[in-house]
Amino acid sequence: MAYVKKWVNEEKLNDTEKEKLEYDGLEILKDIPRYAEGGFDSIPKERWPMFKWAGLYLQKPKEDGYFMMRVNVPSGVLNYEQTVALAHIARDYGRDVFDITTRQAVQFHWLRIEEIPDIFQRLEKVGLSSTGACGDITRNIMGNPLAGLDPHETLDTRPIVEEVYRFFQNNEDFSNLPRKYKISISSNVHNPAHAEINDLAFVPAVKEIDGEKVIGFHLKVGGGLSARAFLAEELDVFIRPEQVMEVAIAVTTIFRDYGYRQKRTRARLKFLMADWGPEKFKEKLLEYTGPLPERGENQLKDWNAGFFYGVHAQKQEGLNYVGLNVPVGRLTSAEVLELARISKKFGDGEIRNSNSQNLLIPNIPDEQVEVLLKEKIFDRIRINPPKFIGYAVSCTGIEYCNLALTETKERMRRIAEYLDEEVKLDVPVRMHMVGCPNSCGQRQIADIGLQGIKMKSKEKSGMVEAFEIYVGGTLQDGGKFNEKLKGKIDGDYLPDVLRNFLLYFKENKESEE
Ligand code: SF4
Repeated sequence: MAYVKKWVNEEKLNDTEKEKLEYDGLEILKDIPRYAEGGFDSIPKERWPMFKWAGLYLQKPKEDGYFMMRVNVPSGVLNYEQTVALAHIARDYGRDVFDITTRQAVQFHWLRIEEIPDIFQRLEKVGLSSTGACGDITRNIMGNPLAGLDPHETLDTRPIVEEVYRFFQNNEDFSNLPRKYKISISSNVHNPAHAEINDLAFVPAVKEIDGEKVIGFHLKVGGGLSARAFLAEELDVFIRPEQVMEVAIAVTTIFRDYGYRQKRTRARLKFLMADWGPEKFKEKLLEYTGPLPERGENQLKDWNAGFFYGVHAQKQEGLNYVGLNVPVGRLTSAEVLELARISKKFGDGEIRNSNSQNLLIPNIPDEQVEVLLKEKIFDRIRINPPKFIGYAVSCTGIEYCNLALTETKERMRRIAEYLDEEVKLDVPVRMHMVGCPNSCGQRQIADIGLQGIKMKSKEKSGMVEAFEIYVGGTLQDGGKFNEKLKGKIDGDYLPDVLRNFLLYFKENKESEE
């Protein structure tokens, strides 16, 4: 039995909230084997949305009965067996599509209900799970893709991420939150886990306490994108590593019990934070945790947007990690298997996902680097990619997503490759494409954000796919969302409009701008 809710006031609850009181999202896990036996037609329509708690969405069109599955990868770290198991799922059930998401997770498409129990078993066997990857619950926990390798990290956050992930995973006390809930925990000084756009983020900090220099975290709360985007606010507290679990539980409890449940569009933690402000939020937090020291010294230096291209020395002498570009985050199963083979041959079999939809292979000895770089697969999965395809991010889009207004992934890839041919720049341009305002592709933080809409065709004979263009997004120095340019562009003209825009930028930009 799930946690008995304190907030219940049925008159004010939205319809989803009322349904969640009748049927907790995690209950779907018990029903899936029965539905798998009975086939797609045995699933009542009102249960469809609850599959999200198992990490499953119905693909577009829903009536065809194909599912998308998102698999959690805390901190983005995958061992050899896990990578191979995921590649085999894509090969055996997912029509060979393997997507890396903007939260270090992995997504499959084209799954049928009959196949889900076997997929669950395969995941469990290697210590992975899709539970909680979607739905009103704690999602995959983002971490530092370089945790444990990074010469500049303040501490290795992998055990903390794992502990927090295991606590919230499948936890019925926290399976009915007002809305989705995203946590990042990283001690990387370049902020690759995008702290400011998470509901709850732990960022590196130090503080002198009783004459001793303590390495810990600062806390940012209430960030999130979608149609109304907010940057997280920092609370005036310092958190020791051993307090992260307690603080994460406290903030999540506040969200669960005080978060808004009247309107789905105003339910994320960011709205509670916007109303309360950081001081009131801190006061409430301390009611749960007891006193916490005030802020110490921030250790965040800048923002690398989650990109790690090239060969870099690890903190372990003689070992290196290699950052690779996966164009718009999509691989085939054969490519994943090949990368797994290479990671085992040259490293220790580990692969790490970053939230720029790319990956890296760690633990390569100095003397192996040159040989590794000669592997054929790096012709496409490049180590030093061109300036546009290397920095292009895209959401799933109309191919599979029910909310999408436009096609995105293939379009973004084609446009980025075209721009690499046409415009030679000395700096990368981060372009993010999304198919609707929900912004899974994090449009707001891009140098150039492209948001899909529908608009009347020139001849007014019907609707066409079009894009709004936003410029100047960053998470540098606390962050600033990009701003919309006037007008909208028919998708067919988008490549040339961007080409001209970027050529203008090239002519007029200052050096290194
Ligand atoms: Fe779907 Fe919109 Fe998210 Fe893209 S941003 S995956 S179109 S919900």
